[in-house]
Amino acid sequence: MNRRDFMGSVAAAVTVGPILKTPLPIGASTRSQLPRASWIAKGLIDAGGSHEPYIFVIRRGGESLNARQDYERNQSEKLIRTLHEQGIEVFHTHLYKGFGMAAEKPGMEDARRVAAIAHRYGMKVDSYIQWNTMMYETFFAEEPRARDWIQRDVSGLPILLVYGYQQSYRYRPCFTHQEYLDYLKKIVRFAVEEVKTDFIHFDNFDLNPEPDSCHCPVCVEGFRAFLRAKYSPGKRQERFGFENVDYINPPQWNRQNPPQKMAIIFDPAIQEWIDFRCQVMADALRQMAEFARSLNPQVAIEINPHGITGGNRAWENAIDHARLLTSTDVFWTEEENPCVYLPDGRLISKIRSYKLARAFHNTLLAYVADNPVAMAECLAFDQTLGFAGTAPIPAAMLPYVAFYRKNRELYLGAEDVAPVGVLRSHASITYHHARAQLSAILTEQALIQSRVPFRLVFDEPLPDLATLRVLILPDSECLSNEQLASIRAYVENGGGLVVIGQAGLYDEWRRLRVEPGLKGLAEGQPPAPDYEEDVEESAATAGPEHRSQAGKGRVVYLPGVEYDGPVPEAEPYFNISNRFWKRPKNWEQMVEAVRWAANDALLLQASGPDFLVANFVEQVPRERRLIHLVNYDARNTPGISSVQVTCAIPDGKVAKDVSLYEVDSDSPRALSFMPKRSSVSFTIPEVKTYAVIAVSW
Ligand SMILES: [Zn+2]
Repeated sequence: MNRRDFMGSVAAAVTVGPILKTPLPIGASTRSQLPRASWIAKGLIDAGGSHEPYIFVIRRGGESLNARQDYERNQSEKLIRTLHEQGIEVFHTHLYKGFGMAAEKPGMEDARRVAAIAHRYGMKVDSYIQWNTMMYETFFAEEPRARDWIQRDVSGLPILLVYGYQQSYRYRPCFTHQEYLDYLKKIVRFAVEEVKTDFIHFDNFDLNPEPDSCHCPVCVEGFRAFLRAKYSPGKRQERFGFENVDYINPPQWNRQNPPQKMAIIFDPAIQEWIDFRCQVMADALRQMAEFARSLNPQVAIEINPHGITGGNRAWENAIDHARLLTSTDVFWTEEENPCVYLPDGRLISKIRSYKLARAFHNTLLAYVADNPVAMAECLAFDQTLGFAGTAPIPAAMLPYVAFYRKNRELYLGAEDVAPVGVLRSHASITYHHARAQLSAILTEQALIQSRVPFRLVFDEPLPDLATLRVLILPDSECLSNEQLASIRAYVENGGGLVVIGQAGLYDEWRRLRVEPGLKGLAEGQPPAPDYEEDVEESAATAGPEHRSQAGKGRVVYLPGVEYDGPVPEAEPYFNISNRFWKRPKNWEQMVEAVRWAANDALLLQASGPDFLVANFVEQVPRERRLIHLVNYDARNTPGISSVQVTCAIPDGKVAKDVSLYEVDSDSPRALSFMPKRSSVSFTIPEVKTYAVIAVSW
């Protein structure tokens, strides 16, 4: 049985005590793709409005005495008309915050009325639904059974959202409780049938980090049932040393061993608990998305789990994007990674999160309205503008809205041209975050700041590797036998491989392999340790690489990707926040290794400083490729002159036209170019904040 299908079986298998009347959620496989709302493929410009209902503004406290007028202004026809005139296409507004339908009825009726106004202006409606809050004071009054639906810690206390000290009235519901999910479906039904929404925004899509995980009886029994469904008795013996999992509990913590200081996750029960929590969230979402789509197949589903933040998302927050983004059209990230180039050489971006979205054919929404570089980044990597802010839309945003609407055909249906893949191995990053996440981040940073077009590759399962010229394994320690076999076959058939550090030295349960998993491909890997009582973390260091030919492919082994300078002190949960997001010391060695492994087939080369970033896409039906350039230091370096570009076009084609599009220019400008067979070279006189170059053949 596939791991993605377990929860369905768990629902049937779970046997629990008298307190539990409800089954676990049943979801279809969360690995398969749900059909999408087709209108999203045309891109979107979304703005509000406010997502806060009046009841919440009051309960939160500290509101302005004109809060009611403010609430009404945010859903007024005047405001909607203004947004419409400014080019906004989707109106974001409140619907449900977690107080229960009875308490929120007046606000929900307002939301219905407001949606009708937006629809009258030809706009789509984006409705806010709180995924993860139960305001118990009103909710319990409406639905006393909900006392059993909340998450409880090991002592039985309700688990809270983690906001600002003063929101202890916000309990987290438990997503193994079918009755809670059924309640949430009533909200979704109201959204689709009454509000006639086009887009559901599920906010706060995550769980708290340990020790704040749910130990309610349904979760405890559900976890045991999950293990029984996932593994045969023999496999359980191999996993735990015994077969009977009837007494296994979720992990518990003490003062000497706080979870945020655990460097490597060896314990099979903790590894499985992480998997269980991720699957519960994925199945609950799938169930809700299928329900919404059953009412209207054109409702777009969006969640707010954040993107690649540098945190250990599976371990901390029960977020495995690979299991979630198959159910969504769009997701939000509120990560605090502004688009900026800092004096210490760090280039902070949301590029990783955009690439995550692209890997799963999702659109990413992020705060971009305060910074033209962020708007440019979004257009370059998201291929749409996403979230334009709240009314009044900032003046700096309006030229970008106008540019996008005028030149939308540059973005429609564009596919990434990315011959290099960086593996984000789920097991490696989850179980040894300090090393595998840092290695992935630094690898990506080297590629970003060298303008090498790349994509992110997610495993479980590995996608077809044949479309890649180079696969990079950044300390991808935990690879299964199946994954190793497909990597070997890929290299045999001519794929390039860059193996970094400890890649392949462990299996998917992080058991040490006796023989390195990539033996015969990567030569010179030093031995790695098995179980350690006290983990001694050592920083990866660069060293001489080893190049070899294997089958028809080329392989490079790099001993390490080295942080440039003293490695910042470990953060709680070994978060690799943007304090670490710096081009590595041996970036040139890495980029050269990638080039060599690719046999010089990287498809795009552009000159410029390390704060000039490129994305490369194509529109096959329009017979063109597009290069998006973003200047991350536009604040201090308003123009970068004479950027020389060589880009590949399909075999045998000859370029006919090269045109430059800029936000502050009325029409595209033709650039002179040097056509060659299957490639073209040209010089851009100056790149300001953002430039798009279309190469047609
Ligand atoms: Zn629970």
